[in-house]
Amino acid sequence: MKVTDHFKASKDKTLFSFEIVPPQKGSNIQELYKNIDPLMEFNPPFIDVTTSREEYIYIEKDGLFDRKITRMRPGTVGICASLQHKYNVDAIPHVLCGGFTKEETEYLLVDCHYLGIDNLMALRGDPMKGEKYFKPTKGGNTYASDLVLQIDALNKGKFLHDNKEITYKPDFCIGVAGYPEKHIESPSLEADLKRLKEKVDAGAHYVVTQMFFDNQRYFDFVNAARAIGIDVPIIPGIKPVAVKKHLHLLPQVFWLDMPQHLITEIEKAKNNKEVRQIGVEFAIQQSKELIEFGVPCLHYYSMGKSDNVYNIAKALF
Ligand code: FAD
Repeated sequence: MKVTDHFKASKDKTLFSFEIVPPQKGSNIQELYKNIDPLMEFNPPFIDVTTSREEYIYIEKDGLFDRKITRMRPGTVGICASLQHKYNVDAIPHVLCGGFTKEETEYLLVDCHYLGIDNLMALRGDPMKGEKYFKPTKGGNTYASDLVLQIDALNKGKFLHDNKEITYKPDFCIGVAGYPEKHIESPSLEADLKRLKEKVDAGAHYVVTQMFFDNQRYFDFVNAARAIGIDVPIIPGIKPVAVKKHLHLLPQVFWLDMPQHLITEIEKAKNNKEVRQIGVEFAIQQSKELIEFGVPCLHYYSMGKSDNVYNIAKALF
């Protein structure tokens, strides 16, 4: 079922959803299930599965380094298929521009269609590890809006090159990313919102936001988006702070501000166990305010161990 249909079916009730990261290559999927199992108590209508782009590794041989390319966390579409089968839930693969030619993307979309995946999250992806700027893959999509156009074309029955008649067209529901505190590369929030509008105009059906800790940023973002005609659902992404180093890491990586009272609490914490508890309590309060605002869904970034997301969901859903 499409994400947007889940929102319609829920009427005004706020839904619970979360995002998982595929395990490292060589791990067992049972580890993933162990983290997901407890969260199913809260009936998520959908679960997102991230995609990690390729990276370089250097292999030493006779004193020389040979550069190879690898993916540390492959398997996103396979994991989605297994989640749909095991939990009877919609699973959403994140599809990236970076690292894929348009042809490879087309094959991936066809696989998703065959596997009964109804939703896709279309993203550009970050620069490769060790590179400062995003470089589009030769023959790939440059921006998320290009990827949305490609998916939308397939929804309309158009392959990239051949005019093969599609008798059973996919009808993917497409999500895209939004940034309440602007994307790190964007010259301004206003310029970034215009880019978001381009993604929606290209065919995106809903937006999931980058994590934020100040709800006012989200409220302002939604108002500004509505003012320029972005009328699709905008789902807040929530990340519970889990370790002390998040104080520096999250603002650096995701370009966000944290409220001073949260910073003070975390700084006072004696260990990461206390930080994890502070993160849970903060996320509960943050979520309560967002539910009151009437958000259709709260989307949690679970990243590995899910006990904190479980405790948040237990208090709210
Ligand atoms: P875009 O929408 O393409 O925007 C990228 C930048 O380019 C922005 O600054 C935008 O303003 C600018 N821009 C857009 N169009 C144009 C144009 N035509 N001309 C000039 N500038 C333009 N990353 C992963 O690697 N894997 C994941 O699974 C993943 N999941 C994510 C899920 C969510 C909900 C979010 C919010 C982010 C996720 N990311 C993921 C991170 C994301 O890939 C990065 O934030 C990336 O840097 C931007 O992706 P985007 O889709 O927002 O890009």
